[in-house]
Amino acid sequence: MSVLVYIEPHKGNIKKTSLEAVSYANKLAELISSNVTALAINISDEGLKAIANAGADKILSVNNESLSATNIKALAEVVNSAIKEENATTIIFAADGTGSSVAPYVAAKQKAGIIAGTIDFPIIDGNKLIVQKNVFSGKATALYSVDTAIKIITLTPNSIQISNTKRSPNVISFAPTFDAANGVVLKSFKIDEDIAKGGIPLADAELVVSGGRGLKGPENWGIVEDLAHALGAATACSRPVADADWRPHHEHVGQTGLAIRPNLYIAIGISGAIQHLAGVNGSKTIVVINNDPEAPFFKNADYGILGDAFKVVPKLTEAIKKLRI
Ligand SMILES: Cc1cc2nc3c(=O)[nH]c(=O)nc-3n(C[C@H](O)[C@H](O)[C@H](O)COP(=O)(O)OP(=O)(O)OC[C@H]3O[C@@H](n4cnc5c(N)ncnc54)[C@H](O)[C@@H]3O)c2cc1C
Repeated sequence: MSVLVYIEPHKGNIKKTSLEAVSYANKLAELISSNVTALAINISDEGLKAIANAGADKILSVNNESLSATNIKALAEVVNSAIKEENATTIIFAADGTGSSVAPYVAAKQKAGIIAGTIDFPIIDGNKLIVQKNVFSGKATALYSVDTAIKIITLTPNSIQISNTKRSPNVISFAPTFDAANGVVLKSFKIDEDIAKGGIPLADAELVVSGGRGLKGPENWGIVEDLAHALGAATACSRPVADADWRPHHEHVGQTGLAIRPNLYIAIGISGAIQHLAGVNGSKTIVVINNDPEAPFFKNADYGILGDAFKVVPKLTEAIKKLRI
């Protein structure tokens, strides 16, 4: 019996969220006296080293170009195949990228209990895993327990530190079986270049600069991008901004978008509706820039700047650039 951790394909590189998932699996294995097998799909040798360091005892390395991030059913079959191979009883996914999509398929096939989006290490109670997650749009936390024979947990990005274990696991080349009767088709898809390009992936980012409808239109996004560039941050946006096609949908954070937990979240011209807060209120520090003193976001901010974004943001960017010289 082992803890299996899913490492998703990411253009050969390894995502920070995948290393967090390995670190989580490592801690869990320690608690239940088990060991960790990482299922690494199309990961470079450098990525495999990082997985070892984060706490894998064994790595099943799958190399198959048809297994792109868009081939969810096939990725789920790879995980099912690895569960059988390893006799795994707990499977950990990062709750971003393909992890959140693949995990439910695996749960259905394995008749496993699944807890999506935990924010902390589990508590062990006999055969039960007790897991903490945010509820009510992040206004509260709740404990959920799962006691099925196979258990699946997905981990919210930026919830735990990456471990540094300096292990030297066996790397075994793994050729999974695919169940054609399940409608699994192996084919290459072209990943949307618009999504693939750009700087830091939002889910991995420690610093995020985000813009809302207060920016008036897409032509004004230069000030958001300049600030993000000066800080080395990723960019995000509120939902109406993505709905209006001012920004791509993969930047939309909130209840119906991505949930993120960066160290710093700077919200520019965003009112702070509860549906927006649901995706960002796990951020360690929140800075709000808004010209309305009644904007609800100020109540959730660690630092608030009351002023016109078009005047404040360029000044902030200049000040940061000077500090960085
Ligand atoms: C079921 C459901 C799900 C939803 N899911 C999401 C979600 O996932 N994510 C999300 O973001 N929203 C979501 N929403 C929408 C949400 O309720 C809000 O409507 C939305 O977040 C508002 O976006 P905003 O703050 O950019 O725009 P607005 O509410 O229009 O706020 C703009 C802000 O900019 C400020 N401003 C204006 N001009 C300036 C200036 N010059 N300088 C500085 N500040 C300025 C204003 O004072 C205002 O506070 C959802 C809604 C529903 C009903």
